[in-house]
Amino acid sequence: MKNIYMVQVSFEMPGDNIIRYFPYSVGVVWSYASTFKSIEENYDLKEIIFLKESLEDIIARLDNPSVFAVSAYIWNENYNIHLAKAVKDKWPDCKIIVGGPSVPNNNPDFFTKNPWIDYLIHHEGEISFSGLLRSFVNDIDIMTVPGISINVGGKMHTTGPSKRIDDLSGIPSPYTSGLFDDVLQKATEQGIKLNGIIETNRGCPFQCTFCDWGGTTFSKIKKFNLQRITDEIEWFGRNEVELITNADANFGIFKDRDTDITDVLIDTKAKYGYPMIFDTNWSKNTNDTCVSLAQRMLDAKMMRRFTAAVQSMNPDTLKAIKRVNLDGAQLDNVAYTAKERGVSVSTELIIGLPEETYDTWREGVIKLMKDNFIIEAHPLSMLPNSHMSHPSYKKQYGLKTKTIKSYYSHVIDETQEVVIATKDIDESTMKKIYVWTWFVGLLEQNGFTNFISRYLDKKHQISLEEFYEHLIDHSTANEESILHPHVRKWQAYADEHQYARFHAGAPYQKVVEDIGMTNRNDFFDELYEMTKELIGAEDLNLKSVFNIQKLQQSVPDLKDKQILECNANLYEFVEKDRSLNNGPTTYVFHHNGIEERHKDWFSFMNFTRKNRGWKVKIEQISQ
Ligand code: SF4
Repeated sequence: MKNIYMVQVSFEMPGDNIIRYFPYSVGVVWSYASTFKSIEENYDLKEIIFLKESLEDIIARLDNPSVFAVSAYIWNENYNIHLAKAVKDKWPDCKIIVGGPSVPNNNPDFFTKNPWIDYLIHHEGEISFSGLLRSFVNDIDIMTVPGISINVGGKMHTTGPSKRIDDLSGIPSPYTSGLFDDVLQKATEQGIKLNGIIETNRGCPFQCTFCDWGGTTFSKIKKFNLQRITDEIEWFGRNEVELITNADANFGIFKDRDTDITDVLIDTKAKYGYPMIFDTNWSKNTNDTCVSLAQRMLDAKMMRRFTAAVQSMNPDTLKAIKRVNLDGAQLDNVAYTAKERGVSVSTELIIGLPEETYDTWREGVIKLMKDNFIIEAHPLSMLPNSHMSHPSYKKQYGLKTKTIKSYYSHVIDETQEVVIATKDIDESTMKKIYVWTWFVGLLEQNGFTNFISRYLDKKHQISLEEFYEHLIDHSTANEESILHPHVRKWQAYADEHQYARFHAGAPYQKVVEDIGMTNRNDFFDELYEMTKELIGAEDLNLKSVFNIQKLQQSVPDLKDKQILECNANLYEFVEKDRSLNNGPTTYVFHHNGIEERHKDWFSFMNFTRKNRGWKVKIEQISQ
């Protein structure tokens, strides 16, 4: 028997040593391969490696590997390359295979630079990988295996185009087949929680130029059968898997079927208490069905986020990136319906896309925020197989890039190629956009200023743009300001093009804890004085506005109802577009403390920022 190892090391959030992912891609590829008799009879799968351990530890426990197959994506590319080299150095006859989304489709020098790698698998892996394994035991001729590149003395020989599986039901589930039993046991022994990955369908009909997923090759969506999905969700429930991430590109696109899947998720949680949370990419054509599915998951307390990803609000940019979004009226309708049903909607934007300018960016962000969307802004990175990474596309839009250390670096540094300027945004404007977006996102999405900013807009016609510009200038110029060291820090990150630091999440821990816990009262007092100055006239309701802002955010030391007496219906005025009626008004803020499963307040804030889970229920009890 030949010993084979499969490797898909997990995405890791910096600073998080608890949450990892099931190695779904290699699991599903191996599951398919093992349906072939010649593979079952000739190979012994010794281990699926899924944690970023030291290379020495891994090498020390390998048992004469004959095949070493790794799956590469942006969070493990360099790690894989180094690990593969270490294997080849010790076992020169071992066949090294690299698959996954980061395998370049157009890089003839790849084997010259990485001579220890023997084969690349392009696109969907199942057919090509099993074909390779079969060819190693003379079951088939290697030249008939589709979608692979072979290292022939450093030169690349690529066989024909890759082939997709017609019938996904032929792939056994790596969960219910028992393939992941060892993975789960190892994780449990190490106190690691594994995030389950499911795939209800495969493919994407869209062709966004920044993405390596869509495009003509994978345009047709193929579905896994419903029974397989049901059984996998049942498996997650029985095995107490807390979080499921759905790998679909467009959940909600199949209205009836995705409603059935939602039923299974909710029923399984009711039966076992698990899975607790379901996270997914939602359909780009977000519709009423999507909102209603999101609402049902929200009611079952299992929705991580409901996203209507737009990437940009600028029509010229959308054209340049071939992005098909809901039009303005449809988007407004989603925002309205979701708000009516109490569902928070997040949206994803990409900083530095072609045809975007400082003004279009700022206007787009403000428009979305005023429509109540939660913004997630990501740096524009070049993915190896995206249309955008072609030199001609870069030239057309003046995309200037720089390779920086990635956010995902751990054990071995990873890199990402980010856009630092375009023909419409020079380098210094790009830095300004990053700092502005970080600043506004930090304060709005985490519930520090969202109520205040809207009150100023409605009552005093101080726009969100003006409020935040003023606050950035104030915090930058004033060394005593609580935000000053943080603003300076993020400005320095921007100067060094450390755009990975601008990802909402772990990098924000210190600033969120500082303004939300350590210096909470000082931060709000300073903000209050600055706001008073900005208004330039007396406002008897301003103190109450600040109290509402503070009291709506869950914090550990507030565990009971909090009563606030105001002199007007401020909450309805700001949040429900009612007219401002003066008169005694009492609000109750229903605080319950922080759920125990969050290790601290920041973890809670980080987990709930995508659905405003930090916002407590607010009730008016008298006016
Ligand atoms: S970004 Fe989403 S919608 Fe666009 S091609 Fe990629 S997967 Fe499809």
